[in-house]
Amino acid sequence: VFAGLTPKAPDSLLSLIGAYRRDPRAEKIDLGVGVFRDDAGATPVLDCVKAAEQLLLNSQSTKAYLGPEGDFGFLDLLKPIIFGDLVSHEVFAVQTPGGTGAVRLACELLQAAKPDLRVFIGAPTWPNHTQILDQLGLETVTFRHYDQRAQRLCFDEMMATLETAGAGDVVLLHGCCHNPSGADYSLEQWAAIAELVGRKGLVPLIDLAYQGLGLGLDEDAAGARLVLAAAQDGLLAYSCDKNFGLYRERVGALYTLTRDAAALDVAASNIRALARTNWSMPPDHGAAVVRVVLESEALTALWRSELEAMRARVADLRQRLAAAVPLLAPLGGQHGLFGLLPLSPAQVAQLREDHGIYMAGSGRINLAGLTASNIDTFARALNACLQG
Ligand code: PMP
Repeated sequence: VFAGLTPKAPDSLLSLIGAYRRDPRAEKIDLGVGVFRDDAGATPVLDCVKAAEQLLLNSQSTKAYLGPEGDFGFLDLLKPIIFGDLVSHEVFAVQTPGGTGAVRLACELLQAAKPDLRVFIGAPTWPNHTQILDQLGLETVTFRHYDQRAQRLCFDEMMATLETAGAGDVVLLHGCCHNPSGADYSLEQWAAIAELVGRKGLVPLIDLAYQGLGLGLDEDAAGARLVLAAAQDGLLAYSCDKNFGLYRERVGALYTLTRDAAALDVAASNIRALARTNWSMPPDHGAAVVRVVLESEALTALWRSELEAMRARVADLRQRLAAAVPLLAPLGGQHGLFGLLPLSPAQVAQLREDHGIYMAGSGRINLAGLTASNIDTFARALNACLQG
């Protein structure tokens, strides 16, 4: 039966991990996969997570299934952190395996609701967005989000493309810390998007995978809140994998918002049915950890301070790199873990061969891979490469 399959290219970012491991050079630098790292290059378990895990270990009395929606405490406690005082909509929430599960579920729901809808997506975007939409066979319309050579957001182009969307079409937006570009919208730009979404009757699908790692928890959700407030219906795919450092625990949620209470019940029944055929019930541990943290004032304060330390480290590296490499000055005005450098694939390959510097083939770097001991080497190599 498998003879009928055609080979798929391996995920290029995952292949990069193997290549980095095999590189014998001691001075090699890993700026590939998008995880937070400390100055020693480690991705430690947060102290608030360790404390919550200890509490769970002592108190958990069953491993019976959670139910299709997952952990209600987790979903409820996250809600004010994500939505602030946005109360205009009815909301249905489900826990999902990671932000990926939330994006997948959202796209399946939209397809079931309106098979001929179009999804407007920026280019570049997180590659899995395109892969999920293509696999489902949803029609996509691409707008340029970022000009990699010029290192600037293409906001006017995006708005012009969105003007061609019709009622019920979807716009997929990164809530903050755009992956791969780091180029986020200003609050004024978010307000303009919100106005367009409201006027045209578009459905925003907001992917919020890095809340708290850009400017701060509220600041990073401000755009999403504006756009959702302007919409009749909207979806928000959330990940706790970065802001709680829980990557492998696969902690996510999908929030479905509508102004139409009757429609919400039907949407909820569809979401439960889709979740049932995909994973039946979500995994428990990571979401339970988040719940235990958020149930405790002390652990929540600890989480906020640990998140702030992660955010500040990446922001500081960003400023230092922008200062050390004059041609990368725009990096300084961007947010989150990522930067998309104006490098050709040949230049990316050359940095890998000559200096053991590993980044995605697109030129995306994970700033958290920089440390006090490698940032100068990296800046020197980049200056030579960009000027050469
Ligand atoms: N959306 C974006 C924009 C991401 O960058 C990622 C993680 N790379 C995700 C969603 C998915 O996150 P998770 O690991 O929680 O599935």
